[in-house]
Amino acid sequence: MTTVGVLALQGDFREHIAVLGSLGVSAVPVRRPSELDVDGLVLPGGESTTISKLLVTFGLLEPLREAVRSGLPVYGSCAGMILLADRILDGTVDQETIGGIDMTVRRNAFGRQVDSFEVDLDAPGLAGEAGSELLRAVFIRAPWAEDVGDGVEVLARVASGPAAGRIVAVRQGSLLATAFHPEIGADARVHSTFLRMIGA
Ligand code: GLN
Repeated sequence: MTTVGVLALQGDFREHIAVLGSLGVSAVPVRRPSELDVDGLVLPGGESTTISKLLVTFGLLEPLREAVRSGLPVYGSCAGMILLADRILDGTVDQETIGGIDMTVRRNAFGRQVDSFEVDLDAPGLAGEAGSELLRAVFIRAPWAEDVGDGVEVLARVASGPAAGRIVAVRQGSLLATAFHPEIGADARVHSTFLRMIGA
């Protein structure tokens, strides 16, 4: 059976574990390097500055960088997207990332007036086949990707409003990231996409 780890230092890891469990894989919390023997890993939403500090405290930062380098499939949502970025804007001075996706993310990019909102995204690469239903995406103090390198596939952009055109979902090789939170709500299509990447 496929085993998917969920980084469980801070944030909404329980929700990810629940969605993955509903899709029939074994979902296990990861808090130490010895628990990284998994087929794929999810980095949850939460507070990326806190998670970054805890990664150092728990001795997980370097093992995770090594795991990403050696091709472990990883999916990051929101704070998890920040952790997968090679570069951050508006991070704290000492904020570390695991990195792996050639992109610059801006933290809290949508501004205070729209701290949290929901929007429909047209993202066939994430939601299944072309022509599939729009994805209802929940954004909570979310980042966006300000720029991405040539090797990064853009899977979703905001369609309208002041943030129109901003990149909110990407894939590079075995790494997937969304600025929004598919673990909140009843739609498991993003997690299913990640499981297909793992080959589950
Ligand atoms: N703003 C948070 C951060 O910088 C991310 C918010 C979230 O994960 N919902 O980490």
